[in-house]
Formats: sequence, structure tokens, C-alpha cells
Amino acid sequence: MTTETLEFQAEARQLLQLMVHSIYSNKDIFLRELISNASDALDKRRLAGLTDDRLRAEDPHIAVEADKDARTLTVRDNGIGMTRDDVVGLIGTIARSGTAETLRRMKERAKEKEGEKNAESAELIGQFGVGFYSVFMVADKVTLLTRRAGEETGVRWESDGGGTYTVETVEDAPEGTSVTVHLRPADEEDALHDYVDEWKIREIVKRYSDFIAFPIRMGDDTLNSMKALWARPRSEVADEEYREFYRHISHDWTDPLETIRMRAEGTFEYEALLFLPARAPHDLFQRDARHGIQLYVKRVFIMDDTRELLPSHLRFVKGVVDAADLSLNISREILQQDRHIQLIRRRLAKKVLSTVKDLMTNDADKYRTFWREFGPAVKEGLLDASEDHRAILDIASFATTVGDEPTSLADYISRMKDGQDKLYFMTGESRAQVENSPHLEAFKAKEYEVLLLTDPVDEIWVDAVGAYDGKEFQSVARGAVDLPAGEDEELSEEKSGTYAGLLTWLGETLDDVKDVRLTTRLTSSPACLVSDADGISPALEKMYKAMGQ
Ligand code: ADP
Ligand code: MG
Repeated sequence: MTTETLEFQAEARQLLQLMVHSIYSNKDIFLRELISNASDALDKRRLAGLTDDRLRAEDPHIAVEADKDARTLTVRDNGIGMTRDDVVGLIGTIARSGTAETLRRMKERAKEKEGEKNAESAELIGQFGVGFYSVFMVADKVTLLTRRAGEETGVRWESDGGGTYTVETVEDAPEGTSVTVHLRPADEEDALHDYVDEWKIREIVKRYSDFIAFPIRMGDDTLNSMKALWARPRSEVADEEYREFYRHISHDWTDPLETIRMRAEGTFEYEALLFLPARAPHDLFQRDARHGIQLYVKRVFIMDDTRELLPSHLRFVKGVVDAADLSLNISREILQQDRHIQLIRRRLAKKVLSTVKDLMTNDADKYRTFWREFGPAVKEGLLDASEDHRAILDIASFATTVGDEPTSLADYISRMKDGQDKLYFMTGESRAQVENSPHLEAFKAKEYEVLLLTDPVDEIWVDAVGAYDGKEFQSVARGAVDLPAGEDEELSEEKSGTYAGLLTWLGETLDDVKDVRLTTRLTSSPACLVSDADGISPALEKMYKAMGQ
């Protein structure tokens, strides 16, 4: 069979460049990435085997082999394997959404800040994880041999990390995948990085991959304990182990903001280990964004992306739920109906919100990070009639006309002026735009604090929700807003009489305007446009227009 030479997709090439030039100081992680992929492949094969006996693997495991003379390190699995199309599509391409965007931003920042380039890049790229390509930090050539379970022939893929790779069909590949890393010449001074050293390999596996659920073997030894992290008492798990586990399931290299453990005993038992990430993924607002929860049944992986376990406004939460009493064959269709799953979902959602509330009181920095990254998504829950609006509003915070820091509604209420019974807000596209609005003048002049709502979703929930803590939300841009007026500001009959002619003329001349009236709401602008009390606000009007309605 002939060997074909193909080009890496442009973005893949850029990412490879970064790897070859080692943007990370910690090269050890290439091994964790290879093991993580092998573990994913074994999970997939186990699932496939549930419906097709022939796909079942005998003794599913991962093997690591080092050859000191050849200076190669091989990671082998008997997982699902790949077809030729898979290899070209998955290894030759970066399909993950947001990668192109990340690379673009990386270049931009690198230009802005020469010198800080490496740290910045590492941080940015960590948002989606580097995966397979990280082998090129240590390799001058990589050979991948794979055969998809159930297929007749296999594929050999090879590349030196330059612009191209080769693929050829092979007849005798075992089922599963092996990745052989041809290590760069040893760095004499850097024994720390000798990846053919048995103890080095043991150490890396122990540190990064101990929880992997399949045995990782070197010779006859199993290197990992395979203990499910969520099943171990918190006191026995090091923070670093939680962080590694988070990286494994989230493919995010930034440490999580918060770790949440839950355990329910009794008629329906489950354990959950959840993480609040420290930053929003690129696809947070894309319709097909993945949800972050994996479902296990008694330590056995069942599925990724389990949308049934958390409402969609908490889709960014990562973690594992291990339920004791579900069938291993449970399907997504059944999950949707399952009463216990619905119960778990409610409990998890409550727990996540209450954890954020705790952060709000005990760790203001973490809370601020959380709300900045995920607030716009969490607020979507206010549009869903079945959700706990109160708990969401309790943890919300908003920019206001007072100060630079966002404020909670409780704090806003504690600062309300005597006689104020409404929560004043103004919506718009940006803080700057809203703050300069003539609608705010009277409120500023009389020192009424106004919430400045600038996320697209704000416009909608604020109408749907109506009130918080018995106080109504009142838009300052809509209808007549009666601020308690001072004596001298009372619009006298006499004044109205004086301007009657002008008002009538304006009303007749301005076709699109319903009504023209005198107001106390302005202090320096001569006039402003106001929506009907029950009319839609300008921002909504704009949104509908954009949607073509
Ligand atoms: P990720 O694991 O985040 O998807 P990677 O770069 O690590 O990204 O891997 C890319 C893809 O290549 C994987 O999603 C998987 O489909 C495929 N792949 C990598 N290694 C293996 C393997 N050992 N067995 C089967 N498929 C693999
Ligand atoms: Mg991977």
C-alpha cells in the first residue's frame, strides 16, 4: 500500500509550531495527554461493547513501554481505535470550537507584549487543552498505529511536527491505538526530562493519572491505583489530585475556582464531584455547547455531556455524578424521564447556587470571578419558569450608578432612599452608553441609585421576573417614573398652560411619537424619548429587529 503525504490544517499547523517551540515549561504533561486519550478510547469501546458483543475488549488496559536504546516511549491501548478518516479528521485537524479564535488572540497578545509571549500563550491555550499535539514538545517524530475495533485494516500515521504527516494502510495492526514517541536527543544537563527512565514514568503516571479507571501497566506492574476520586473521603484526597482530575474531565488547564463534593445516602444513592471553572469556555453561548457532567453508575463510566443532570444555565459546571441504582444500559431517552435523575438535577442545581452564595460571603474575589465569567449564563435561568429565581437573584450582582464595583440586590436595597420602593434599572448595550442616557439625569441629580443592566439577557428576565424581595423592578426609561419631587419642581398648572401650544404642535409634527409632555425627569438635556409603560424598550426593539421580526 502506498504512503500518502497530507498537510495539517492551518490551525493545527500553528498549534504544532507552538508545541515544537515548547511554550510550556512542564513537558511531563505530554504523557498525561496520551494516557487521557487512551482512557477515553477505552471508555468508548466499553460503551460500544454494550450493544455489540464483538466490540468488547478482553482485558482493557493501557501499556507504557520505554526503549532506552531506541529512545522511544510507547503508549498503547486496546480501546476503540481510529479509522483512516478518523485519523485524518481528528489528528490532522483541530475540530474543537474556539481554537481558531484562541490562536488569533494569542497572536494578537504576543504582538502587544513581546517578552511575555510565552506565559500569555500558555495561559490562553490552556483554555482548551493541547491534547495530542503536546507530544511534539518532547518528540522529533511520532508514529501512531491504530485499528478501529471491528475493522479489518489499520492505519499508520507519522509526523515530525512540521507542516505535513503521512498515512498508510496496514494489514496487521492490533485493535486499539499505540502512539510511539521518538524522543529528542537527551539533554545531558536535564536528567529530569528523561522520559525513557522507568522512575520518571512511574512518577508522572502517579502524579497525573492515578485515578484513571483502567490499569496503566509497565511490564507486569500496574502503576495507578484506579481509585475513583469522588468515592474517597475528602480528607484523603490532595487538592492537587482534584485539580488533575478536573483537567482530565474538562480539558481545561486552568485550575478550577471551586470544588464541590456531594453524597446522598438512603433510597437513592449517588455521589457527585463538581467543579466551578475559573473561566468561561469560548462556546458558552453556542447552542451546541457541551455540558460538563459525566454520568457513572457504580464507578463505571456511562456518558459524557449529561444534560439531564443540570439545567442549561449551569452548563459550564464540570464534574462527575455516580449513581448507584441506575442500569448500566441507561439511555438518554430514559434519563429524561427518570424521577431520580430529576431529583439529582434539582439538588445539584441548588448546591451549585448555594456554593456561589457562600463564595459571595466568604471569598469575594472568587465570587467576582465567577459572576464575571458565568453571570450572563446563570441569568438565563431567570427565563425558565421552573427554576429558582430567588436563589439566582440572591447571587446576582450588577453595575450601578454608584461606585465601580458590581452590587448585589440586597446591598442595593440596603442603600435605597427613604420612600423608595422600587428597584430602578436601565438596560442598554454598554455601561458607557447607559450612563450617558438622559433618562438617568433626574435619578443622578436626586442621588437615586440605578442598576445598569448591560447583558443581552437582562432585557428579558427583568420583565419576566418582575420583583425581588417584594420590590418591583422599574425601568427608568419606560412610562412615567414618579420620583418624589421637591416643591419647586412640581409642574404647575400654570406652567403646563404656558407650554400647551408648543406641546400640541410637537405632537402633531413628530409623527412617530405618541405623546409629548413636560417632565421633571431631565435636568440638563432638553428632551428625551420614553417608551410606553407597557411598550417594549429600545433594546428589545433592536433585538427583535435584528432577528427580523
Ligand atoms: P481531545 O482528547 O481533547 O479530544 P486530543 O488532541 O487529545 O483532543 O485528541 C484528539 C482526538 O483524537 C480525540 O478526541 C480522539 O477522537 C482521537 N484520539 C486521540 N488519541 C486516541 C486514542 N488513543 N484512541 C482513539 N482515539 C484517539
Ligand atoms: Mg485528549
